Order: sequence, then structure tokens, then C-alpha cells
Amino acid sequence: MTPVSSISAPPLKPNHAAANAAAASFAALTAKLDYLSASEIDQIRRAYRYADEAHLGQLRKNGEPYITHPIAVAAQCAEWKLDAQALMASLLHDVMEDCGTSKAELIERFGAPVAELVDGLTKLDKLQFNSREENQSESFRKMLLAMARDVRVILIKLADRSHNMRTLSDVPREKWQRIASETIEIYAPIAHRLGLNQTYRELQDLAFQHLRPWRYRILAKAVSKSRSRRRDLLQKVQQEVEAVFAEAPFKVRIAGREKTLYSIYRKMDFKHLSFAQVTDIYGFRIVVPTVTDCYTALGILHQLYKPVPGKFKDHIAIPKINGYQSLHTTLVGPASINIEFQMRTEPMHMVAEAGVAAHWLYKANHPDGGGADRLGSQWLQSLLDIQDETRDSAEFWDHIKIDLFPDAVYVFTPKGQIMAMPRGATVIDFAYAIHSNVGDRTVTASIGGEQVPLRTELKNGDVVAVETDPTSTPNPAWLSFVRTGRARSKIRHYLKTMAQTESVGLGEKLLTQSLRAEGIERLPLQDQTNQLLWEKLLRFTGNRTVTELLTDVGLGKRIAGIVAKRLVVLLGEVGHKPDAVLLSTERYAASEATTQGAVLLDGSENSSVKYASCCMPLPGDGIVGYLGRGEGLVVHCEDCGVAKRLQHKDSERFIAVEWADERLRNFETRIVVTVSNGKGVLAQVASVLTKAEADITHIDMGEGSADAATDLRFTVALQDTAHLENVLRNLKRAGPVLRAYRSKPAA
Ligand code: MN
Repeated sequence: MTPVSSISAPPLKPNHAAANAAAASFAALTAKLDYLSASEIDQIRRAYRYADEAHLGQLRKNGEPYITHPIAVAAQCAEWKLDAQALMASLLHDVMEDCGTSKAELIERFGAPVAELVDGLTKLDKLQFNSREENQSESFRKMLLAMARDVRVILIKLADRSHNMRTLSDVPREKWQRIASETIEIYAPIAHRLGLNQTYRELQDLAFQHLRPWRYRILAKAVSKSRSRRRDLLQKVQQEVEAVFAEAPFKVRIAGREKTLYSIYRKMDFKHLSFAQVTDIYGFRIVVPTVTDCYTALGILHQLYKPVPGKFKDHIAIPKINGYQSLHTTLVGPASINIEFQMRTEPMHMVAEAGVAAHWLYKANHPDGGGADRLGSQWLQSLLDIQDETRDSAEFWDHIKIDLFPDAVYVFTPKGQIMAMPRGATVIDFAYAIHSNVGDRTVTASIGGEQVPLRTELKNGDVVAVETDPTSTPNPAWLSFVRTGRARSKIRHYLKTMAQTESVGLGEKLLTQSLRAEGIERLPLQDQTNQLLWEKLLRFTGNRTVTELLTDVGLGKRIAGIVAKRLVVLLGEVGHKPDAVLLSTERYAASEATTQGAVLLDGSENSSVKYASCCMPLPGDGIVGYLGRGEGLVVHCEDCGVAKRLQHKDSERFIAVEWADERLRNFETRIVVTVSNGKGVLAQVASVLTKAEADITHIDMGEGSADAATDLRFTVALQDTAHLENVLRNLKRAGPVLRAYRSKPAA
């Protein structure tokens, strides 16, 4: 609602010409600075002179000198009684962007705090909002607020936007839509959030006027007509209210109010009402000395006119999030018109109109800092407490932000989409927030074009790009640093299902292999004809489903050979006899460990296949597979001593395995390099390894380095045994290397 001095007064309408004329004069600004000291006013004058010179020759769209704009912005900030630094910054707010002034120069001339404010404003200007993506406006708003390190930056920004909106008619018409909708979606709600209600209403009305010029005009006419029709009636109400309060034991200030055109329009639009159906266009505000007086005034009014049921709201007991406090009630006045009344104290009124800025208004009115206890708003009170303790605007703002916003950081995708993430979230959380497919396949990431580790914590305003690779899979180590539940559960889910499907696949391979050794070509199909057969088999193994059975086989919980033998018996019962030829060749093949039926390894296996840490086999090594109990398939070198001992006592758990011709990755193995001690030896050896394309994944330095020679133990990832030979050859040629060999457990 726009406050008007009395009901009969014309509506508040910005008089552009007059406003600009006033703004053009710096003298008009200085007249508003009486709350500042003489030396502060002097500093502001210096900032003005500098800005005036910097903008010299630049013109606003209406032909006036550009400096009229910064002066108007500063004048608005002076209305809010902002401090001298803020006023200097508002005068200088466009010099970095428009005149190329450097931050260093601003620091030198006006000090770091003013330069920081101007820099903050310039950075906010660079944020581009794409209003086509409507659902992003809330995030964008929050981000704007979160990014400003000082609330004064936001206030100056709002003053800047207000003046630009007041002069929007000078700008070419095709720009109205974009600027006005940005104002209504971003800046007006920020003003509202911060409790700057006057600014909020003004921004909305100005935006409405330029978004829907035609409707605006019609509505303005209707309101003006209705106002003159209701004039007598409203004057009568005012007189009756004044009369009844004349007997009250406290002083009251009564002011008529009128709904803004935009809020009338919104109400008509939302509730599908005609103008005549919008009944609460008029209202009164009663400002009283104390909180108790608010409730007393409410009682007095309810005796004067009948209240409309369900319309009473106690925003004193429960303030709005932006600190707003008042009692609201709607009464049935003369001629049955509904009239809204608001009761509040003077400090509540200050907060209601100026919100966050009330903090400076209050300080300006109470330079001694006393009497703060009279402030109605607890929210504002807590802000003032902080301010008294710290006198630091940045800390003050941090406190407001904690009150206004949940713990969040706002970051961008490379396409400019905004993502809200909890504080502490990492690049991986971000990737999963985009899509689980992106998260699962993330390989590397960059922030602002620079490559960063995946565990990097996100900061406000980061532009985060994630690179994916379709063959990449989640790393279990991510679980140790991700912050969001979404990322955590997606990673867990992936690892679990991967383990599951891989075990099923391996189980199927193993069972087929064992069946062939029994003379049966392939697994019986899981169809109607074989239903009874499978049911019998499941009863034998104690599994509920075939998938579960195959998983168990894959994980080594059940031995394929035993299951296969049972299956052969069951198949025999239905007349399916083993193939004698297949039987003999497979038996022979199995004992000779040829490729027939062997499990092929290409490095794509995940958790169901492990490469033994004792011998660390490489492609090219002869290998055997051991089905460990419950741990899946473990691959050993065939000459590995550990494997040999296992084979001796548990031979039926060994199966044929084979390297695939094409592998998808390198495999790790251990090498020992004996070097003569000396400076930079490790670096020399490492560089030989790197040149030979051996990726070092672990280094273990031998003890007793006082000796002439030391053993360096490396774990390296290599393609195959040929690659290993090449690496060892190169190592032996290096100066300080005495010996280089592959490390294997004793046979
Ligand atoms: Mn500006």
C-alpha cells in the first residue's frame, strides 16, 4: 500500500522531470546529509567531483548529464541514512564499469572499504539473469544476496534499480519488457525480503506500468474515479476514527492508505475479480506509542465498527520473516465498505517501510545508541546488538543472511543455469545434482576454467564444468567427502547394482563352463518347458530366484561344479543326456586350461573380480582364478606361492581364466629398484618411469637410508609383461640404479 498523507490527496506518482532536476543538483543532495559530520560530507563531495569528471561527456537517455544518475542513487541512500562510505560508493558506482577506473585507483583515492563496495556493485552488474527460465528467479535472487559481502551493496543496487525504473520511459520501448520483468522477478522480491516495503511497492508499480502500459492506465483511471466517489465516505471514516481516539489515553497518528495499482491488478488477476469486486483498496494506519497501545487501539476500533471474521492477523506476536510487525484487521465501515486497519508502533513503522535500512535510520535518529530496547522487532534488535558489538557492516550482513537464508551456496553450470547446493558441497555433489548419469561418469572438473580436484568445495558464484567419460564409474572413495544425501545414495546404489549384475554375469559364465565340463552345451533356458527343472534346482540350492543363484555362484558362495552336477542329474531325469564328445573335449580342455570356456579378463570387471595383491598379475602372465568364499573371483599368477598353497587344499574352487586380447585399462604390479643413495635419486627414477609411461600409484621408501644403497618399492600401472620388461630395461640404464626387478612373493 502506498502511504498518502490523507485520503483526499492524489496518489503518489513519481514526477520524473522534477526528480531529475533535483538529482542534477549536488546541492540538493547535500541538503539531505545533515545526519553526517562535516568531514564526511567533504569526503562525499570529493567522490562527487571525481565521478562528475569521470562521466564527463556521457549522457543519460533523456539527454541529461550522466552524473544525474549517481546523484539520484546517492539521494535515495541518503533517505535511508546510509553512512558516508555507502554514499561515496553510490556516487562512484558506475565508474569502474563505464569509465574504466581501476579498483587500485579507487583504493588509493577513497580507501579500501569504498573501493570494495564499488567493486561489489560492478560484479553484481555482470551477473546476467535469463528471465525465460522463470523457476530460476528465486535462486538468482538468493545468489545476488549471498554474493554481496556487504548489505550496503544490495541497498545501493536497489537504489540504482529504483532510479533506472523511474527513468525507464526514456529508454527505447523494446527494452522495457526485459528490464521491467527482471525488476519484478528479482529486485522487487529482494526489496521485500529485506523489508524495504516502500521500494518494493514502487518497483512493482513502475514495472507494471511498463509491462502492461494499457492496463496500468485503465486501472489508474478506475482508482482515481473510485477515489473521488468514495471521498466523502472515507473522510467520514477518518473523522469517526479520530473522534474515538481523541478519548484514548495515548497519542495516535492516523494515516489513510491506498493499495498500489500493481497489488490491485494482482488481486484481480489471481482471484479473477473485476475492479468493483476488489473491496480492500482503502485502509488506515494507526501509529501508537507502545505495543500494548496497539492491542488497545484494536479493541477501540472493534467497538466502533464490526470486524470481518477471519481477517485479524497478529504480526506483532509472530513477525514476518523480513521483520515486519503490525496488527491487521478488516472492519465493515459506513455504507458496508470493507476497510483494513493496521496498528503499529513508531519503530515497527520504521521497519515496515525501510526494513534493513531501518538499521541506519535508527542509528541516525539515535546517535548515542540508546533506547534500542524500544524497537519492536526482535529481528532488527538482534541485528542492532551485533552491530553494537562489531561495528562491522560485513559481519552485520552475515548475520542477516543467516537469518534470511538457509545454509546454501549458489553456483552456475557452464550454460548459466543456477544450482543451489548446501554449504560444504563438492564438485561431485554438483555433478550428481545435475543428473545421476553425470555424477556416475564424472572424470574431471573445472571451476572458472581451472581444473580442480573432485573433492573441491563449491563457493558462491563458481562456474562449475564437469567432464564425463561413458566408461567411467563412481569411485567408492567419493563417499568419504560427498556432502549431499543424493550423491551419497546414488554412489551406493551404483556400486551395489554393479556388484550385483557383474556377479550374475560371472556366475552364469562359471556355471556354463562347469556344465560343458559335464557334457552339456549350455544352460537350459528359463522358459515354460524348463520351469520345473529350475524350480527343483533352486530347491536344491536354497535360492529364491535364478538371479540370486547365479549371484551366489559369481560371488563364490556356491560352487559352480556342484550346481552343474545337480543340473546334469535333473536334465537326465527329463531325458537330456550329456554329449559324449563335448564331455571328453571339455574335460581335456579344463585340465589343460586352454581358452575354451575360460573367463576372459579385460579390466572392465568391477568388484566381482580382484587381482591378488600378493603377486599382482599382469597381462602376459599365466594366471589362475580362485573363487574365494564370498569375495568373488581372485586372479593370481599361476606360479604364485599363495595360489599354489590354495590349489593344494581347495582345488575345486579354481577355474580357468584368461587375459582378453584387448584390455580396457592398465594393471598394477610391484617393482623394486635398488639405487645408490644420493641427492635427487628418487626424482631421477620417477622420471624414467614416467618416460616409460608407467603410472606410479604408490611409492614405498626402503628403511636404513644411511646405507650406500636403498630399495625403492613402486607400485606401477602397466599394459602387460612386455611393457614391464621395457620399463625394467630403462631403469637399469639409469645412472644411480643398481638393480631393478619385479617383486613377487616367494613360491
Ligand atoms: Mn547505475
